[in-house]
Amino acid sequence: MYLTQALHRWAATTPDRPATSYGGRSRTYAEVRDRVARSAAGLRATGVAAGDRVGILALNSDRYVEAIHAVPWADAVLNPVNIRWSPAEIAYSLADSGTRTLIVDDLFAPAVPAIQALYPDLTTVIHAGDGPTPEFAVAYEALIADTDPIDDARRSGDQLAGIFYTGGTTGSPKGVMLSHANLISAALAGLASRSFFGHGQTPRSLHVAPMFHLADFGFLLMTTIAGGTNVAFPGFDPAKVLATIDEQQITDTLLVPTMIQMLVSSPAIQDAQLDSLRTVVYGGSPISPALLDRARTRLPGVDFVQAYGMTELAALATILPAAAHDDPAHRESAGRAGPVTELRIVDPSGRRQPAGTVGEILVRGPQVMQGYWEQPEQTAATLQDGWLHTGDAGYLDADGYLHIVDRIKDMIITGGENVYSSEVENALARHPAVAAVAVIGLPDERWGERVHAVVVPAPNTEVDIDALLTHTRELIAGYKVPRSVSCTDALPISGAGKVLKRALREAQLETIAE
Ligand code: ATP
Ligand code: MG
Repeated sequence: MYLTQALHRWAATTPDRPATSYGGRSRTYAEVRDRVARSAAGLRATGVAAGDRVGILALNSDRYVEAIHAVPWADAVLNPVNIRWSPAEIAYSLADSGTRTLIVDDLFAPAVPAIQALYPDLTTVIHAGDGPTPEFAVAYEALIADTDPIDDARRSGDQLAGIFYTGGTTGSPKGVMLSHANLISAALAGLASRSFFGHGQTPRSLHVAPMFHLADFGFLLMTTIAGGTNVAFPGFDPAKVLATIDEQQITDTLLVPTMIQMLVSSPAIQDAQLDSLRTVVYGGSPISPALLDRARTRLPGVDFVQAYGMTELAALATILPAAAHDDPAHRESAGRAGPVTELRIVDPSGRRQPAGTVGEILVRGPQVMQGYWEQPEQTAATLQDGWLHTGDAGYLDADGYLHIVDRIKDMIITGGENVYSSEVENALARHPAVAAVAVIGLPDERWGERVHAVVVPAPNTEVDIDALLTHTRELIAGYKVPRSVSCTDALPISGAGKVLKRALREAQLETIAE
């Protein structure tokens, strides 16, 4: 099995079906296959050899979808770059992965000189944009026009498909090595669940989450395997996303909770025409039940499907189908593992925990990564006997549904008691004055750590902290209730849309020190 297989299949059987759509430009499967075969030839012509890494630094576009296919077609290895990184971080990751060829779009082309100054081994830059091509780059469209198509290298399942950097939510991003079989088996598990595209229509998937991040990358593969259309949306603007859903007759989209929160808070949602939309897949970070309820009320008739996974698992471990949201026992879980994925909960000494007991979540299955790129020690610590140690805490219930309680690194130990930051966030989020909230542990002489909440008030609302804490005390035990609360206009968010709690902790510690 290999990444470009679905492109061959659909170009042969339904050549005229739209494969990509971007800014009013649409291309069929036959066209995309031809362009991919030519851009792969272009990559070879610029000096890319078998096994070389090729970076992609771009907003979502139809050319991003093509590049994802062209790189393995040329027998090379993908390295999608986080679009929120600074030039220094980009240079670091290109050097770390030994990437000497980089595909950029109009937005990122101007950053190249700064990256090259830090990392001179970046020798080939391909400009895949609509604007003028800078003199240091080769034009992607010229590569396609000037080269004859080549045959697909058809890398095999066990070969490296890409190095994908983790979200960098808890520390420095790690380069995750995923094989073709890792990626395809995760995508097939998603499709087999029938939670993805279970509506039976050929999907028109809107990609608003960045394609460099494996959550959307996996969703893109699933759409392609299903023979659907990948509609690329650059950036995130709630009103424009809503308008695009109607204009493009979108059936499916994948959103992280922060995007859902921005969509449901947008005034544009009142008049939005969303009749085509069948499914919203969400995941990537915990969602508060209050926000999920609001989203389901605002988007009646839309199925909300939860996915839990991580880069190290080619994005997918468990799925919570839409129907489970009406089932009180499981609606707050992350669902169940697919047929070839195993889950296990262990205590710090590695002992298996019974149903209902919290411990670290371990996952085993065909999607488990090959390891971290050039980090044998990290790999050995994370991968043991085929089991991936997720760093997430959770429990399995008697029916095999996985309940995620927190990242182990975000758990707070106060006065000897474990407090799960997400449980406190869920309680706070139920208060109408709260638009978004993050709970962190801060050092405390008496308690070891104390629970601190950072709140983003709802629009035009002043937060009455005493009232908020009284509300919280009614929902959770006293020791979990925040000892302190601060308000802010917006939480620090990672490139993948996740709240950066380590940044919040650092900021709070600085405030305390002052
Ligand atoms: P880093 O590993 O660099 O700190 P990261 O863990 O955010 O970054 P990803 O691989 O993108 O990088 O994210 C995987 C993590 O996201 C999971 O380990 C889990 O903590 C969280 N996550 C993913 N899906 C869900 C979900 N449905 N519910 C709760 N948390 C989720
Ligand atoms: Mg992680």
